[in-house]
Amino acid sequence: MNKALTTPTQRRLRIGLIANRAHQDAHDSALVQLFQRATKSIQALNIEWIVVGRTLDAIHTHGVADLCQPHVRFPYGRDGGLMKLVAHVVNSDPQNSVDAVIYLIDPVDHSSIFPEALALKRQCVIHRKPFLSTLAAACEWLELEALAQGSVTHFSAQLGINLGQESIALIAHDALKQNMLQIAEQHFSLLDQFAHRYATGTTGSLLNQLAQKIKGEQAGRNWVQPFLSGPMGGDAQIAELVLEKKIRRIVFLEDPHVARQHEADIQLLERAARTVTDFALVLSDGAGSERWLRLLGERLRHSPN
Ligand code: PGA
Repeated sequence: MNKALTTPTQRRLRIGLIANRAHQDAHDSALVQLFQRATKSIQALNIEWIVVGRTLDAIHTHGVADLCQPHVRFPYGRDGGLMKLVAHVVNSDPQNSVDAVIYLIDPVDHSSIFPEALALKRQCVIHRKPFLSTLAAACEWLELEALAQGSVTHFSAQLGINLGQESIALIAHDALKQNMLQIAEQHFSLLDQFAHRYATGTTGSLLNQLAQKIKGEQAGRNWVQPFLSGPMGGDAQIAELVLEKKIRRIVFLEDPHVARQHEADIQLLERAARTVTDFALVLSDGAGSERWLRLLGERLRHSPN
């Protein structure tokens, strides 16, 4: 049995769950696939689900409610279910808070850009709680958290992690660029395994300086391929590669405390990831990204693919 990497408390993991309608209804919807693909991880974890009304109805309709136990039913979206979830993200009382949110977002569903939906993501970033908005993110996160709790029997072949064939994008807003450099230095050998690394302009040049320091000439001129700076359109350039399934992982350390002149570009990149929900995943805060990369390295040591 693998020694648990971090188990600050043994209380149940509380996960908020909601899916937009397009991700609920079909027999192979993202919601159904979540429970099918992550069955072993869910069974290995001690989860209490907090589920918004219609999503819970769909879980019952599709016959996957056994995997969603125990659960608490939150109101339907129109009755404030999503707003209530935001309150539980920010709540510090362990009995009335959630540790992570899985929100399977359909980018063309208007409710996904309602204020409560945007606040849910923002408060997750502020309170360092994973905000998992794609099927790929939710499945991999559940698997890595099961690993963190010592379960090594649940690896899903479907995840098929092969960093040598994957690309990653690295982006940090100004106040978080040092944090990005720390994470990149700490996980340099993991990041070095990716087939390609991409970044927005300024983040990219800082990362290339770091790579020169660590790897010398071997790093080449562009260890990370820099695109335009974020405010000049770099996020949109990266989004195109996400849509083409050329970039699967995006570490985007965003600063939720400043006004962002290129908010639309930031949203565009996230929406691109949600457009290819079974493929792409976005990590939005430093602590969560660091933990994810650490567990990914652990995962690859247990099972190289
Ligand atoms: P930058 O862009 O790496 O060029 O600073 C990041 C951003 O601000 O979106």
